Parts: sequence; C-alpha cells; structure tokens
Amino acid sequence: MLLPRLPDPVPPAQHEIAASYIGRLARLHGLDINALWRCVTEREASGGMRRVVVPERLAAITGRTVHSLAGALPELRTPQPDWAMFRHQPQPGCHHCNAKHPGGDVTRILPHHRYVCTRHRLWLCPSDADGHTTPLDALPEIVQAQRRHLRILQRRGWSVTYDAVLTAILICGQLWSLPENENGEAWHDWIRRANILIPPGTAEATFSVARLCAAVYPEAVALASLFASPYWRQQAQRTVWDRRPFNAEIARRLRHPLYGQHENDPISHWANMTAKRPPLAPIRVHDQRHHLRKPAQRTATQRAQQRHAHAFNPSHRAGEALVAHRHLATVFRRAWHPFRTHTLLPNGDSYYKLS
Ligand SMILES: [Zn+2]
Repeated sequence: MLLPRLPDPVPPAQHEIAASYIGRLARLHGLDINALWRCVTEREASGGMRRVVVPERLAAITGRTVHSLAGALPELRTPQPDWAMFRHQPQPGCHHCNAKHPGGDVTRILPHHRYVCTRHRLWLCPSDADGHTTPLDALPEIVQAQRRHLRILQRRGWSVTYDAVLTAILICGQLWSLPENENGEAWHDWIRRANILIPPGTAEATFSVARLCAAVYPEAVALASLFASPYWRQQAQRTVWDRRPFNAEIARRLRHPLYGQHENDPISHWANMTAKRPPLAPIRVHDQRHHLRKPAQRTATQRAQQRHAHAFNPSHRAGEALVAHRHLATVFRRAWHPFRTHTLLPNGDSYYKLS
C-alpha cells in the first residue's frame, strides 16, 4: 500500500508507546485510527492475530528516519530493548511535558528509575495515581532524591538499582508502621511530607499510595545507595557484633541514633536474609500484546485505596498501605521469607515473629 506522507507529522514523545503515537497522528489528521494502524502494521511473523508496527512504514508517513523514531519509541528498536528495565504498565507520565505533544493523550512506558519529572517537579510513580497529579514544589528534597537515584543507576546498573530502591521503599513503609519510639527523625519527615501531600481532613479526596511512596522516597534513596553498594552489602553480611559500622551508617542515614539496638527490625532482616542474594527481576514485564490497553486502576486496588484513605493517619501505621501496594510486589514476596508478622502489644511495644 502506498503511504502518502502526512502534512504535519509531529514527533513522538520520549518513551511513548507506538499505539499512542499512531493514535495522535490519526487524530491530528482527522483519520480513522484503525485504518492508520492497519497501514503502518502487519501481521506478526508467527502467523498470530497480533499486528506489529513496521518501522519503515511509520518512517514513510512521518518523513522521519527509523533511527530517530526508534530513539523515542522503545518498541521500534532493533534489537528489542531489555523490557525488564521498563515498568510493565504504560502510563501518561508528566502532563506538563505531554502538553507540548498535540493530538490527545500521550501514553509512555517509563523505565523503572523514573519517579519524578525533575523539570516540572511532578511525582510520576507508582502509576496508581490516575486522576491525581502530585506537584512537589513544596518538597524539593523529593526532586533531589530523583537525581541521587539516577546516580545510583549510573554506578550500579538498572537491576541492582531497581531491587535496592524497591526494597528500601518497602523497608521505609515497614518502619513507618512501627511505634514512634522505634523510629528516628526520618519518621517525622514522612509525617510532615504526608501532611503536605494529603492535607489533614482531605484524605477522602487526596489519598493515594503513590503519595505515601513520595513521602518516604528521599530516605528510601539514601538507603538504596547503601543496599546497592558491594562494600556495604559485605558489611551487612557480617556477624551481629561486626555489623556495627553498617548499623552506624543506617543510623546516620535515617537520623536514628538508637538504630541497631535490636535485631528484629526490617533492615536487620534484610542484612541477614537478602544482602548476599543477587538482585530480583521484576515479576511483571511489559508485554507488547497488551500495549493498546489504556492503564486502568483495578477495582480491588480502588477499594483498597478507599479503605486506606478512610483510616489514614500519618502518625499511625501509615506505611502499611504502602507495604501492601502492588508496586512493591517483586520485593514484598521476598522481604519476609521466611515470613514474619509484626505484632503490636497493648503497651505500645512491638516485635516481629516467624509465623
Ligand atoms: Zn514534565
């Protein structure tokens, strides 16, 4: 089929999925989306029903080179990228960045390390924040943490960074749910940030687990750089007595002078069980067969979120909603293996026990 070049072939957005770009091109030119989709795709080589984009055809109608299109559209790259590096679920990304891309919604598949749009100071992760945008103007430390996160990525590679950051977020959520006297200064910052992102009295409208994730992100990145470091992993694997330098470093990063007095906290559990293991791969990986689906919030997730919103109190076990969120599923399965339950006693003490 001869493909005439479109009169106004706007460029794709960075990390945009091909279906999103083709949809925008069709809307801008008043074309039928399905007809344009058929023009630039063909049946997959295996003979299945799925259609795959033919990069040369997309290049022909846009007047752009295959090379430049593939620079923005990961699905067009040859060889295919390592999809484990990307979130499995496409999401809109930053709406300020999207505003300069005409033709309707932009859907992107963001890499795991993209938590903040640093240019527009907007929180992007996890992707359950449909309908919510979370500006970070009042919380510059969260934007700064994204830059530190990228430095870990440059030094350690994506898989170590992915595991370390998710593990650290999970641990911060666990620490947030401990009684106040078992937490350091960081705990007060989590409450302060949560009160900015979810102002008191507005939880029914403003609560999201993504915002809890943002509240702990600076300390999570500080812990993650330690979890990702071969030196500190070695230190963590020593006996309890020899582990004092490691505990001192944790105490410094969490501003928790009493850290290390007990042996039953989430970080000691990480040191005992996980520090010697290789990084975990994501449970779910992007599947191009589902790339036409719009990201949608599952009903069960919505119900869980409403329940947490109703009970939300930042100074009382607020991290439990975060720990249970599917964004952390990869590390959650490992974190308590063998499984431990956190028990809170009436006098305010708490402990973890094997169950
Ligand atoms: Zn932006």
